[in-house]
Amino acid sequence: MDARLEVIRDTVLARNPGEGEFHQAVTEVFESLGPVHDRHPEFLEGAVLERLCEPERQIIFRVPWVDDAGRVQINRGFRVEFNSALGPFKGGLRFHPSVNLGIVKFLGFEQIFKNALTGMPIGGGKGGSDFDPRGRSDAEIMRFCQSFMTELYRHIGEYTDVPAGDIGVGGREIGFLFGQYKRITNRYESGVLTGKGISWGGSLVRPEATGYGTVIFAAEMLKARGQSFDGQRVVVSGSGNVAINAIAKAQSLGATVVACSDSSGYVVDEAGIDVELLRQIKEVERGRLKEYAARRSAVDYVDGGSVWDLDATVALPCATQNELDGEAAARLVRNGLIAVAEGANMPSTREAVAVFQQAGTLFGPGKAANAGGVATSALEMQQNASRDSWSFAHTEDRLTEIMVGIHDRCAATAEEYGDPGNYVLGANIGGFVKVADAMLAQGLI
Ligand code: NDP
Repeated sequence: MDARLEVIRDTVLARNPGEGEFHQAVTEVFESLGPVHDRHPEFLEGAVLERLCEPERQIIFRVPWVDDAGRVQINRGFRVEFNSALGPFKGGLRFHPSVNLGIVKFLGFEQIFKNALTGMPIGGGKGGSDFDPRGRSDAEIMRFCQSFMTELYRHIGEYTDVPAGDIGVGGREIGFLFGQYKRITNRYESGVLTGKGISWGGSLVRPEATGYGTVIFAAEMLKARGQSFDGQRVVVSGSGNVAINAIAKAQSLGATVVACSDSSGYVVDEAGIDVELLRQIKEVERGRLKEYAARRSAVDYVDGGSVWDLDATVALPCATQNELDGEAAARLVRNGLIAVAEGANMPSTREAVAVFQQAGTLFGPGKAANAGGVATSALEMQQNASRDSWSFAHTEDRLTEIMVGIHDRCAATAEEYGDPGNYVLGANIGGFVKVADAMLAQGLI
């Protein structure tokens, strides 16, 4: 890392103790930014990096609610409003027991650069709670969401901060959150949340967008090397929103997705994952992946273990952060891996990224490869602002155009800075310069 940036990085780490994922995300971005500061001394003079690492506002709040047995439960809610240089804060809400301030800050920090790369007018933010939705009834989910919004509503708005979904927050949760926001504010403010239901202000393609976008990005990387998805053997981690739609898109392009996972285990289906059956189990019945193996012949279920033990030519990590480590990366590379696109946020450890880059494996980092979700959220905001709703085909065309644009911007930036094919460098520099220029133009903010 550039020595000037290392000093700033060390100060950021010391000021934010115990936030391991945030430290990791900051370090990974700083490692790319040395050459930018040679060309732009004004960024150092204006203390852009120091400002960028300090969120504009951080909100932590109590979320009390009552479970079905009548017991009082207390969770912790977060919203980190990181950077609004390019537009209102924008980023999802995560409901998972692992959520803490460091995780929300890593996600919010990544979101700044991701949103800048989309070319849409959106700043970066993220939020969530340590609430565990697993095994909770619809009524419990609703009561939790209502309590969460009873505090959050005073901090958000279509011109201020626009949350969406993430792990544990899908259409059902966004519905409960929107209903409570409307009730408290007495405003039908469609643009305050994205990921809404289609009949009440949502956008077609939003549910598919992150997974589809990840595969579109991967297809562009493959194309740049004269290859395609056709005939590839793909392994996907996760079996939630991003994973399911990545599987569907990869198979529509001629790949065979032979495995996917949840936090309990993984399935191996050499014939290719049956997406309709997977959707039925995970989205309709809210069941576990184990049931997929029970309902389909010639499928193995592996309890525990890692889906990265399998061989693949393309890997799409779509579950959670730091799920693919250096050892797994080395094994995948030895066994013929040619490309990785991150559907999840920071799923590859720093060691894994280094292995992929040293081996010349195509590697699309999450802040570029999974930007299709937030980009389509911005398209939802556009439709809400004009009180319009677009067709599936039109919205999908826009998504494709945006993902191809992100790929090309990352590739061109990597080339401009003398490291062609390094999408990590391209994404970090491409996103950073846009935000840094806007911050300097807006004065000391
Ligand atoms: P979902 O809640 O729909 O699915 C998450 C999936 O990952 C589930 O299969 C879940 O398994 C698994 N998972 C979650 N946490 C862990 C863990 N600690 N260990 C192992 N497996 C785990 O979430 P999404 O699909 O929306 O999100 C997946 C990833 O994509 C996240 O990193 C998210 O930040 C990122 N992302 C999502 C976007 C979106 O539009 N939804 C946009 C951009 C990025 P189980 O059911 O067993 O918990």
